[in-house]
Amino acid sequence: MADNRNNMLEKVKERLDIVELVSEYVNLKKSGSNYLGLCPFHNEKTPSFTVSESKQIFHCFGCGAGGDGITFIMKRENLDFVDTLKFLADKYNIPWEDSTGAPASGLKQIFYEINRAAARFFHSNLYTDKIALQYLKNRGIEEEVFRRFGLGYASESFDKLLINLKEDGFSESDIEKTGLIGIRKDVSGFYDKFRNRLIFPIIDTRGRVIGFGGRVLDRSLPKYLNSPDTVVFNKGYHLYGLNIIAKNKSRKRIMLVEGYMDVISLNAKGIDYAVASLGTALTEYQGKLLKRYGDEVYICYDSDAAGVRAAIRAIDVLQKLDVDPKVVMLPEGEDPDDFIKANSVAAFEKKVEESLNFMDFKVYILKKRFDLTQAEDKIKFTQEAARMIRELKSPVQQNVYIDKLSEETGIAREAIMAELRTGRKFKNMPSASVTTKTKPEIQPARQKAETDLIGLMLIDKNIYEIVSEKLSDSDFEDPDCRFCLRLIAQEYKSKDILDIDRILTELEFDEKDSDRLAALLSAKPQYTSSNIEVITEDLIRTIKTDQLESKKREITEKIKELEKTGSVQEIKRLMEELTEIIERIHLIS
Ligand SMILES: [Zn+2]
Repeated sequence: MADNRNNMLEKVKERLDIVELVSEYVNLKKSGSNYLGLCPFHNEKTPSFTVSESKQIFHCFGCGAGGDGITFIMKRENLDFVDTLKFLADKYNIPWEDSTGAPASGLKQIFYEINRAAARFFHSNLYTDKIALQYLKNRGIEEEVFRRFGLGYASESFDKLLINLKEDGFSESDIEKTGLIGIRKDVSGFYDKFRNRLIFPIIDTRGRVIGFGGRVLDRSLPKYLNSPDTVVFNKGYHLYGLNIIAKNKSRKRIMLVEGYMDVISLNAKGIDYAVASLGTALTEYQGKLLKRYGDEVYICYDSDAAGVRAAIRAIDVLQKLDVDPKVVMLPEGEDPDDFIKANSVAAFEKKVEESLNFMDFKVYILKKRFDLTQAEDKIKFTQEAARMIRELKSPVQQNVYIDKLSEETGIAREAIMAELRTGRKFKNMPSASVTTKTKPEIQPARQKAETDLIGLMLIDKNIYEIVSEKLSDSDFEDPDCRFCLRLIAQEYKSKDILDIDRILTELEFDEKDSDRLAALLSAKPQYTSSNIEVITEDLIRTIKTDQLESKKREITEKIKELEKTGSVQEIKRLMEELTEIIERIHLIS
C-alpha cells in the first residue's frame, strides 16, 4: 500500500506543474521569476501569494500558507493526502495503480502499431514544418542524429494526428487509450494531446515505440509532456536512450543525465552512453537497468539545487543495488550540452575522468551546509557524515571514510567510530539531570504519542525494539519521556520483562520529579494487544511528522521575517529547505 502510494506520488509529481495547477484557482501574474496573485486562503486586496515555478512551491506572505502543488490541493479542496493523490491522478489521467483487470495481449500489439504509426507521422512533420528543424539545427543536431532517435514534430493542429491514424485504420477508442488523443471538453470528439512540440519517441530495447515525450519550443506550459502510463509504457521501467545503448558493443560506461535533449546532444558529440529517466526520479528498476547496461555508472545532472537533490536520490537508489556511482561535476548552471559547446568533447571527457566517487560527492554537498571553523558546525557535520558512513555496506569503505573524515575535521578517529555506534543504540546511562530542565511547549498529539510509546514499551520488549530502531532518545521532546526511555533501555539490557514497581521504588530516592515519572511509568495505554505494532508504527510516525511540521513552521517564520529585510538569497535557500521538508512529510504520512 505504502509502495503504491509512493509510486502514485511520483507519478503525480512528475505530471504536476504548480503554475498550471494554481492558475485554475488563482489569477496569477508573472512577477520577476515568480508568479503573484490574491491568496485563496485568506482575504486580501493586494496580492501576497507567490508561486515559484522553478521550486514548484507556493507561499503566502500574508497568512503564511505554503507548500507544493499537493499541499495546495489538500488545502484548497480540503482533502487528505491519499484523496488528493486520487484527485490529481484522475485529473491527469494517471491510472490508479492498485486497479486490476489485466488487458489482453492483443491490445498491446495494437498499441505498438499505433505508436509506430504516430512516430512516423511526427517524424515526417519535421521535414514539412520547418520550426522544429530549425530548432534542432540551432542546437547542432544534424539529420543523422535526429533520424537515429526518430525525433518528430507535432504541429499546432488539433486533429492532424487523429485523422492520420484513423486513415491508417485505427479506432478512436484504441488511439485514446495510448494517450495520444483526449476527449474534447464539450464531448464533441477527440483532440491531439501533443501539439506544437518537439517529439521524442520512447523506444524500448526491442525497438518498439512505447510512448512519447514532447517539449515545447516556446515558453508555453507545460514545458514537457509525456504519454501516460499504458499497458506498454510504464515510466519507472524504462530509460530514454537505452535502445541506443543496447546496440553498443561496449558496456563499459553508462551515464545518467537529466533530460532527453542531454542524451541527444551528447550522442551528437559522439558520447553514446547517456540515458535519462522519463521525467520521474530514478526508480529501483531503472537503477537495475543502469547496473545491467554499464560496468561503471555515472551521474551527470545539472549543478543547481534540484539537480543535486536528484543526484543524491539516484545515489541512494543505486547504493541499495550495490552500485557505486560516480558523479560528474559541471560548472554551476551548465548542462552537458552547454559545457561541450563552451569547451570541447575532450574537456567533457576529462570531467568524466575526474568525476567524484558518490561518497565524496555526498560529503562535499554536506560540507557546503556547514562552517567547519565553528565548533558546533563541525560536530553537526561529523554527526551527519557519520550517518552516511554507517549506511555504507563495506567495512573497508567505512574505514576509508572514517579516515578521511578524521583528517578533514581533526576529530579523532575513535570519536567518529563512537558516533557511528551511537546512532542505533542507547549506550549512555540514564541521567536524571534532564528532568530538571524547563519543559518545552509540546504539541498535544506529539505529547500523547511520546507518553503512549513509553507505556507500550514498558509492557512489551518487542515494542521497545521497534521503537529503538526508529527513534533515538533525542527524538523525544518531553524530557521526562526521554528519561523514561533511557531507563527502559537500561532495564531491557538485562531483563525481558520489567518490574515497574521495583523501578518506582528505586526511583523514590533520587528523583525529584518522581511524581511525574511515576505517573508516566504506571500509565497503561488503552490499546488492544492485537494491533499494538500497527499502533506503535503510527505513534512513531506522529512524532516524525511533528518534528518535520515544527521545522516547517520555524522556516516559514524565518521566511516571513526575512521578507521584511529582503534577503533574497537566504529566502531562496529556505524555500528549498521547505520543499524538501514538505516532500518528507508527504512520504511518511
Ligand atoms: Zn494567505
